[in-house]
Amino acid sequence: MNKLKIYKHILFISFYILVFLFLTTCAPMKGPWEIREERIGKGFNLISKEDELEYSKQVVQKLEQDLEILNDPTSQRYIEQLGKRILKNSHLQHLIKGYDWSFKIVNSNEINAFATLGGKIYVNRGLIENVEKEEELAGAIAHEIGHVMGRHVSKEISKMALINAIIQAGVIISGEEGSKVLSSLFKIGGGVGAFFARLKFSRDDEREADYLAVQNMHDARFDPYGLISFFKRLKKIEEERGAPIWWLSTHPPIHERIEWISYHISKLPIADYYSDQRRFISIKNHIKRLPPPKKKEKKEKEKKLELEKVLNVPGNVAWFDTQIDLEDNQEIVIEALGEICLQKGNPKAWCSPEGLPIKTLQQPLPDENLGALIGKIGEESQDYFLIGSKNKIKVLKGGRLFLGVNEELISDNAGAFIVKIYVFK
Ligand SMILES: [Zn+2]
Repeated sequence: MNKLKIYKHILFISFYILVFLFLTTCAPMKGPWEIREERIGKGFNLISKEDELEYSKQVVQKLEQDLEILNDPTSQRYIEQLGKRILKNSHLQHLIKGYDWSFKIVNSNEINAFATLGGKIYVNRGLIENVEKEEELAGAIAHEIGHVMGRHVSKEISKMALINAIIQAGVIISGEEGSKVLSSLFKIGGGVGAFFARLKFSRDDEREADYLAVQNMHDARFDPYGLISFFKRLKKIEEERGAPIWWLSTHPPIHERIEWISYHISKLPIADYYSDQRRFISIKNHIKRLPPPKKKEKKEKEKKLELEKVLNVPGNVAWFDTQIDLEDNQEIVIEALGEICLQKGNPKAWCSPEGLPIKTLQQPLPDENLGALIGKIGEESQDYFLIGSKNKIKVLKGGRLFLGVNEELISDNAGAFIVKIYVFK
């Protein structure tokens, strides 16, 4: 190697070290880090707390027809006690009062928990069976409690009602008219059960729920680190299964949430935390022995996978329109082959759909490999997801499928990926 080449080499390496240092030391998170507790629960909402409570009765009735509630007093008592411990000790009692709180287990293997109107929280058995510590479960429940305290569910419904033009701005959803509005929303959302289980919150609402979870866990003397541990557990499960947990892809990225949660944990005074790990394990083992869901959850294998399209996705096009319109909750499999060059003329800049293990500042997905195949649903969407050489994706909200390369400086790229898109029918 001549001197100039060595010099160039060092320059190249230093550049990436600098970029790496910048990325790891400088938080890429947008928005303020602090939460003003007096503002929680406020903001645009067409549903009053009283009406929310009223509707929650109807919601529970319908929802429990849609979903199978685990009929088991032992685990029911346990989950209720855990939830109540969090509620009772919170220093934000004004956000907790006025709801008819309940905690129930859904006989579903899907790893999920969700909040509905009026403080009705549901945890799937699949979540309990897949976490390993009591404080991880407490973290998941505390997060859902946070959604209720922040009035996120009713706020989201208010937004959807407006978007769906069911009502005019300024009208309050209440009384019988309100019930009609809600039923039509549930119909759009695929039934009451699916509506709440798949409700998507804004990034700010997710942050607020995580913040409230940290505060409430600390107040109840559950180690708030359990929430971080919960997210790490989910990430690990995703990796082991090689399939994404669908709702994680609709939430803010895990690394960002962990950063946010860690910051708020660091602000807490020192406290002694405790959990009953032995009881948790015994309940978990007890649940594992309970009969499986009666309503057979449709397995992916039972649906037929059909090849929809084969496309050439060029490396130098920002977003490639596949002209495929996906429906809500549709599942697709994408397979990609071939190579693209991230810098024309540079023989080392070729990569497969998996990308190169390099991080730059110009990547739509900052945590994933440079040049990897990525996707989004809807032209305006900024919810990008990784595809790589093969991935199964569950589409929450339908729309046009776009494919792209995980790099923003695309003009000097060459080559194309060959992409096969399969759809479950
Ligand atoms: Zn959430």
